[in-house]
Amino acid sequence: MRRSVRSCYDGEGGYVFAESPDAIARKKGISQIARLASNENPFPPPETVIEAGVAALRQANRYPEASPERLMAALRRCHGEYSFIIGNGMDGVIETVIRTVVDPGDRVVISTPTFSFYGLAATAQGARVVQVPREADFSVDPGRFAEACRGAKVAFLCSPNNPTGNACPIETVREILDATDCLLFLDNAYVEFSDIDYRPLMRDYDTLIEGRTMSKIYSLAGLRFGYAFVPPWLAPHLNRAGTPFAVNAVACAAAEAALGEAGHIERTATHVRRWRERFVSAIPFPVLPSDANFVLIDVAPLGGDEASARLAEQGIIVRSCRSFPGLEDRYIRVSIGEDWENERFLAGITQL
Ligand SMILES: *Cc1c(COP(=O)(O)O)cnc(C)c1O
Repeated sequence: MRRSVRSCYDGEGGYVFAESPDAIARKKGISQIARLASNENPFPPPETVIEAGVAALRQANRYPEASPERLMAALRRCHGEYSFIIGNGMDGVIETVIRTVVDPGDRVVISTPTFSFYGLAATAQGARVVQVPREADFSVDPGRFAEACRGAKVAFLCSPNNPTGNACPIETVREILDATDCLLFLDNAYVEFSDIDYRPLMRDYDTLIEGRTMSKIYSLAGLRFGYAFVPPWLAPHLNRAGTPFAVNAVACAAAEAALGEAGHIERTATHVRRWRERFVSAIPFPVLPSDANFVLIDVAPLGGDEASARLAEQGIIVRSCRSFPGLEDRYIRVSIGEDWENERFLAGITQL
């Protein structure tokens, strides 16, 4: 019955998904579609990762381990002695954090324009979402942000930021943490494409969470695996609030193997950096400086929908940024894909 649906889910809105490549291929009669809308790694996972996933699938009649020790050991091998929680994608981690600390009516702070899921998950928990607009160059003013955090339960800061691509300097994050005792969730989904290492901050602050995902540089978007560095005092509460068995055994096994594949990470990062530079010099529109595996392009006087529709005509899917609150409708976000995808995109955008 419709009247039983909560008002926040009664109208429009919700997560914006990329267009289906199959649908576009059928509509336009193009066999290969350049998929540059979701910031995925265009390269499939390494063979060792696939084998680990297959081996886990053979035992899928059993529930996953309650506390996957080998995976936790792999995380510590990769990063050092920190407390971690894992989730069904970083989205799952974000949901667990919000569920753990937010009561209905509490304030949750976000820095806009940014990734939509923080607001969606906070709304699901009955929070009031406070949007703090970024500066004209999309940097974050730490004083303004910290001011909005006063009395809030948790704040989300994405760095490198989706969709703008820029990263916050460590000093900015430090200033925010020094100025507030609100929990800060630093979303590092794209940090492996940047030169910044925020991990040392975990030693200095017990109000900081750093979110990571295997969906981007690790090539595992389809498996849904995310994790976070958390302050040790918070870990047991998060574990209690989290959905039991939220991370499936295949994802756990593949993630564990992927953490050992430093070569895959390095190759991808090199590919992305090379193309990022080429994009900046070859795209005939202003391209914002990026620390991620995508760039934000100012296509004015075109709007985002028009530019992306015209690229779709040529079998190129990019993300129109019209739906991002706090962003004027004049941008598209384009992921760095395989060589042929990037070449096709450069040819396409030059014709706009
Ligand atoms: C892709 C993305 C995520 C989500 O990652 P999953 O692990 O796939 O849920 C989180 N934050 C940002 C900013 C992202 O772009």
